[in-house]
Amino acid sequence: MAISDVLVIGAGPFGLSISTHLRNRGVEHTIVGRPMNTWRNHMPLGLFLKSEPYGSVISAPARGYDVATYARLHRFDDYVDRVGPLSLDRFLGYADWFTEQLVPDIRDLTVTNVVPTGDGFKVEFAEEVPAFVRQVIVATGVLPYAHIPDELSGLPSDLMTHSAVHDRLDQFSGRRVAVVGAGQSALQTAALLHEAGADVQVIARREQIIWEEQVPLEIGLLDYIMRPPTKLCEGWGCAYYDSPDAFRLLPESFRVKKALSALGPKGAWWLRDRVEGVLEVLTGHQLRSAKPQGSGDRGRSRGLIQPAIQGWAGLDPCVSRTDQPAKRSRRRVPC
Ligand SMILES: Cc1cc2nc3c(=O)[nH]c(=O)nc-3n(C[C@H](O)[C@H](O)[C@H](O)COP(=O)(O)OP(=O)(O)OC[C@H]3O[C@@H](n4cnc5c(N)ncnc54)[C@H](O)[C@@H]3O)c2cc1C
Repeated sequence: MAISDVLVIGAGPFGLSISTHLRNRGVEHTIVGRPMNTWRNHMPLGLFLKSEPYGSVISAPARGYDVATYARLHRFDDYVDRVGPLSLDRFLGYADWFTEQLVPDIRDLTVTNVVPTGDGFKVEFAEEVPAFVRQVIVATGVLPYAHIPDELSGLPSDLMTHSAVHDRLDQFSGRRVAVVGAGQSALQTAALLHEAGADVQVIARREQIIWEEQVPLEIGLLDYIMRPPTKLCEGWGCAYYDSPDAFRLLPESFRVKKALSALGPKGAWWLRDRVEGVLEVLTGHQLRSAKPQGSGDRGRSRGLIQPAIQGWAGLDPCVSRTDQPAKRSRRRVPC
């Protein structure tokens, strides 16, 4: 099958959404990528989305393609549209339904290279011959940018992994695992590891874990005025950040700061009980180094980093207080 003049690379929520909007405008295009691959293969079983169900939609030009409609059509009586986490399973079911309805013609191809030519691009694929296209829309997500901090980058992959590597965590049962990070992804991964039978320690630079507050169950007229709900979060700040036309008018330094901090790092309100008082959490400590040691049996440690999740099984972590660079924490080797 020929590749159209306009190529969308990536079939995650953004690629799918762009495809529906292009089709609505009569723009012939080809969309390539493994549908929802990041969500299906790089997030752990048992995950819940941090975004509210009503905010976890894939944008389409027509109404009626949100999670609420999907849940109603499939008679999911337990579905709540607001103040309730949406499971990964259900989100994937929704995305598959959205794809069947609106983007049925995705081609499962991997782009290996895009080279500008005089009037367009030469696009190379892992599976077939190159194509020449006029426009390329890149929607390949964040996975290619998974980052392992320098302090840990020399460790072997059987001792240290990025969280995006795992779609199941039961392999860590009975092992000691450190999760480095203090955002939702780190905290939820730590909770899931604990629930899968791992002995978990969270290590975070910040002095305390920040948790989102649960928003009120009911919203009255006054609430709409005082703290309007948006798909990002609730409140006037959110309304502003959720409006691209308004947000782009802000100075760049402020936009960058807000992009990094508006939604976190914070744990979701519904996760708190699964972490606080349940898991060992070491705050105010920065990881300085870690070195392999021993066999990785129970009692030793293995690492997952988060965003690189890293457990300590056969790893000796060296951490220092963020405010006292030389001090060591309880379970360490000389740095
Ligand atoms: C643990 C975790 C939890 C999250 N929770 C939430 C949440 O609750 N709410 C929320 O809104 N966001 C959440 N996010 C962020 C979420 O990943 C993004 O919002 C969303 O997936 C971005 O969509 P995307 O289409 O840009 O990228 P992705 O979903 O990553 O999709 C990228 C697509 O591109 C394809 N692709 C990549 N490279 C190529 C290539 N070379 N050739 C062809 N195809 C390629 C992939 O196969 C994939 O299909 C979470 C992220 C993580 C990691």
